[in-house]
Amino acid sequence: MPDREDRTCPECGGAGYVVEQVLGQTARAHRCACQASCTHCGGSGYTLVPSGTSMVAQPCSCRSLDERIALFNRVAVPPAIAKASFETFRCYAQPHASALQVAQDFAHRFRRDAPTQGFLFFGKPGAGKTHLLVATLRYLALEKGVAGRYVEFMLLLSDIRAGFSANRGHMDILKPLLGVPVLAIDELGKERGTEWERSMLDELVSRRYNSGLSTLFATNYFPEEQAPRPREVPGRVVRTGSTEFQRDAESMSLQQRVGDRIYSRLVEMCTFVKLDPGYDHRKDEQGSGYWRKT
Ligand SMILES: [Zn+2]
Ligand SMILES: [Zn+2]
Repeated sequence: MPDREDRTCPECGGAGYVVEQVLGQTARAHRCACQASCTHCGGSGYTLVPSGTSMVAQPCSCRSLDERIALFNRVAVPPAIAKASFETFRCYAQPHASALQVAQDFAHRFRRDAPTQGFLFFGKPGAGKTHLLVATLRYLALEKGVAGRYVEFMLLLSDIRAGFSANRGHMDILKPLLGVPVLAIDELGKERGTEWERSMLDELVSRRYNSGLSTLFATNYFPEEQAPRPREVPGRVVRTGSTEFQRDAESMSLQQRVGDRIYSRLVEMCTFVKLDPGYDHRKDEQGSGYWRKT
């Protein structure tokens, strides 16, 4: 936890860091001006401590702030939600409050040395699922010094495809995501469901599952049993990767979107939480949109 001695700083509220929102760039945190010159080390990052008859340099405690900031800057938070945090999440209805609680509990409970059950938010767009994924990663990085990564699954797939044309294998892109302590995968199930796409998702999810690492998810698709409308026409089979699979996206369940194998992994790895209050806070009365709110 950071020093909260300077509670009077209007810029950072005593946190010591400020997160910036720059169009077209992932979110960046930096040291607040109030932390510019450390009173212990004068900004060198080291203090001298006695050791026997001589003095030795040891890292100053202010370095942990820089390390936490560096961790946050590697999360890759999309610019539109750069400032998403638990504090900026608005609870419009009970489902919001419950989902916030689940995300905060996870962040508070998380330990690097013991497996921590992740969570999966499902529900229609606009309920704040992405905000809570990012807020969780932000808290872990900036407050607890835990590394995390945020990926939107479709964009990850395009990165992998782009890598192929530059002679980079899929593992070049996936590798950093396989071992990171906490990974958040957003927009799960939005892909076309081709065999290749599933194999990428399977590789990512199964490897993290086998390593006992926490993975968080957000999806617009509902589990079969909680689907808002009948999902299946008896006897009708929709092939994955087909145009029909794409066209029927709206009426499909999460199982159908990701396949049984991956779905059963998700059930084991995560607590499923519905975040679908039937209210789109991106279209609220102020019309200020997600951008300024977060
Ligand atoms: Zn400050
Ligand atoms: Zn210092």
